Amino acid sequence: MRVTVLGAGVAGLTAALELARRGAAVTVLERGDRLGALACSWSAGGMLAPWCERESADEAVVRGGETALRWWPEAVDGVTRAGTLVVAPARDHAELARFARRTREFETVDGDAIAALEPDLAGRFRSGLFFPREAHLDPRAALAGLAARLIALGGELRYGVEASPEEADGDAVVDARGFAARAAFDDLRGVRGEMLVVRTGEIAFARPVRLLHPRIPFYVVPRGDGVFMLGATMIESAERRGPVVRSVADLLNAAFALHPAFGEAEILETRADVRPAFPDNLPRVESRGRVTYVNGLYRHGFLLSPACARAVADAVLGHEGSGHEADRERRRA
Ligand SMILES: Cc1cc2nc3c(=O)[nH]c(=O)nc-3n(C[C@H](O)[C@H](O)[C@H](O)COP(=O)(O)OP(=O)(O)OC[C@H]3O[C@@H](n4cnc5c(N)ncnc54)[C@H](O)[C@@H]3O)c2cc1C
Repeated sequence: MRVTVLGAGVAGLTAALELARRGAAVTVLERGDRLGALACSWSAGGMLAPWCERESADEAVVRGGETALRWWPEAVDGVTRAGTLVVAPARDHAELARFARRTREFETVDGDAIAALEPDLAGRFRSGLFFPREAHLDPRAALAGLAARLIALGGELRYGVEASPEEADGDAVVDARGFAARAAFDDLRGVRGEMLVVRTGEIAFARPVRLLHPRIPFYVVPRGDGVFMLGATMIESAERRGPVVRSVADLLNAAFALHPAFGEAEILETRADVRPAFPDNLPRVESRGRVTYVNGLYRHGFLLSPACARAVADAVLGHEGSGHEADRERRRA
C-alpha cells in the first residue's frame, strides 16, 4: 500500500516509521526546507516522563507513556533511562507534597540522596521525588534518527512541499500537520510554549530535573556537552512569535533558583511554538475516508506519538486482532 504522510514532526515521522515497518511504501511530505524548520517538535524537551506528567494529565497519558518507554529505544539511539528528579525550594514544600499525592512510581529522597543522584545539587534542596523508570532523549536527534530509519526501510522524505490531504497521492493519507491542520477540526486549540537552550561548564546533570515553580512547570533537560534545554511556558494562545521578555525572565529566574551557576550560562537559543491540543488535552487518531488524522499531542508529542503511530498504522493497514496492545491503544488514543 502507498501511504503519503503530511508533516515531518514527531507525529508524522513516528507514524511513517510504524507504517514502513509493517510493509507500507511511505512518502513523507514536509513544507519546511529541512527537518524541524517549521515543526513544534523541534522545540520539545524530550522528556519521557509519564508518571511525572500524571500530576496534571489523564491516566491515558501514563499508559501511552509506558508504550513510549519501550518504543523509542527500539527506534532510535540516544534514549537515556536515568529517571527524573523533582525538587522544590523549602518554602514550596507543600507543592512537593501535592505533586507526590497526584503521582506514583517515585521514591522520596532527602538531601543526601539528591546529592548522590546529582552531585551539583548537593546542599541545595532538603527533599525531592525521584522517578527512576522515566527517560529522556534529544528531540532533534530523535527526529533525525526516525528519518534515517524510514529511508533505510525504503521510505521517502521530501522537503519544501506544501501538501493538502485532499490532493495528496497515495492509497491512504496520514495528516500529521500539527497545528497547521486546525481547519480540519473545530476544537483544536494552540498552547504556546517558550524555551531556551543554554551552555555551562559548571553544571552536569545526568537526568531531567524539575523545579516546582508557582507560575511555570519548570524543567531542565541535559543535552550533553554542558548544553541544557530550559522549559517551558504553557500559555493558552496560538500566537506565533518569539519568546516574550516575561517568559524568558521567569525561565531564567527558575534556572537560577535551581542552581546559581545558570546565571553565568551562555544563552544559545530562545524559541517558541504552538502545541496542538484538543479540549481534553489527549491526542486523537481519526479516519475520514482515505485520510487518517493524528493530532492534539499537546505537551506529550514524544511521550504519546508511539501509541498514536501504532493506532495510525492499525487504522490505515487494518489492525492485528482485538486483543493486540496496539488495538487497545488505538481506542485510547
Ligand atoms: C517548548 C515546548 C516543550 C515541549 N516539551 C515536550 C516534552 O518534553 N515532551 C513531549 O513529549 N512533548 C513536548 N512538547 C510537545 C511537542 O513538541 C508537541 O506535542 C509535538 O511537537 C507535536 O507534534 P506534531 O508532529 O503534531 O506537530 P509538529 O511538530 O508541528 O509537526 C507538524 C509538521 O507538519 C508540517 N506541515 C504543516 N503543514 C504542512 C503542509 N501543508 N504540508 C506539509 N507539511 C506541513 C510542519 O512544517 C511540521 O514540520 C513540547 C512543546 C513545546 C512548544
